[in-house]
Amino acid sequence: MKTYYAEEQKRHDPKAFLSSGAQQPNPEKPERIERLLAGAKAAGSPIERPRNHGLGPVAAVHTPEYLDFLEHIFERWQRIEGASAEVIPNIHPIARAGSYPASAVGQAGYHMADTACPISAETWNSSLWSAWSAVEAAEAVMAGASSAYALCRPPGHHAFVDVAGGFCFINNSAVAAQVLRRSAARVAILDVDLHHGNGTQGIFYARPDVLTVSLHADPVRFYPFFWGYADERGEGAGLGYNLNLPLPRKSGDAAFLEALATAFQRIRAFAPEALVVALGLDAFEGDPFGGLSVTTPGFSRIGEAIAGLGLPTVIVQEGGYLCDALSDNLTAFLTGLGGKQR
Ligand SMILES: [Zn+2]
Repeated sequence: MKTYYAEEQKRHDPKAFLSSGAQQPNPEKPERIERLLAGAKAAGSPIERPRNHGLGPVAAVHTPEYLDFLEHIFERWQRIEGASAEVIPNIHPIARAGSYPASAVGQAGYHMADTACPISAETWNSSLWSAWSAVEAAEAVMAGASSAYALCRPPGHHAFVDVAGGFCFINNSAVAAQVLRRSAARVAILDVDLHHGNGTQGIFYARPDVLTVSLHADPVRFYPFFWGYADERGEGAGLGYNLNLPLPRKSGDAAFLEALATAFQRIRAFAPEALVVALGLDAFEGDPFGGLSVTTPGFSRIGEAIAGLGLPTVIVQEGGYLCDALSDNLTAFLTGLGGKQR
């Protein structure tokens, strides 16, 4: 299984982050890439650089207005007297029923769900290369690879059609799924990140061709708070094509694998031709976010279980933060998945 990753993905280095209103260092650090690369190498995965795929695959899941915002907002922000070094919103439209403003400050509130996704000079470029890693992995699977790993960073699953949030700007998992749709009639996205994949759910909410399934810590007291509940099932033609499996805080391997079995029932009934795994490693018991208690051997079993679906699989990196076992957890997952596939 190949790993796709570009050096440019390291340049985005967000500083600002608020936790319960308090300033903290931003946990989505470039160093995550070093740890994840080490984990992929330890699993025997060769590292390859993706090609520049242009805006096409990104524009297939995001609005032109939003992409224009991501590309230019940093430069515009620098012209505001006394503005912060990074773009951080301080006002949000209620339910977004109002008009689209011309102001950089107004647009920041319109396109950014929270303060966890500050935009700097390198954000746009790093995000594009992150998305291109996902495109490259999806194309490798379409060309016949049983699986491919996109070391995406910045991550993507909290990004909606036109909103950034939770460290995410371009929804890499959605981009990969949309690329797979070129040859697959039905694609399933299985999100195993600690946090609900709200952006991915939002992008495909009204569509029956992409099934979205997410396992995550119960949002009733956990980010992203407003999405991830079991009664969110899709809408219109997409009704029944979204499945949320919230887990009680601190759930461990047994509860996670049980929920995974429920996810597989739905995925098998959907009969997809390809699978995207939104791989967060932050469900780990030692992750700084501390929401769930999956162990390192647990990630291996999750990988094995996913391989048991027998589907062409694109793995897209989502969360998973700096802790001693971050590399090992990726190695465990990839080895579990690849071992079963051979
Ligand atoms: Zn997460």
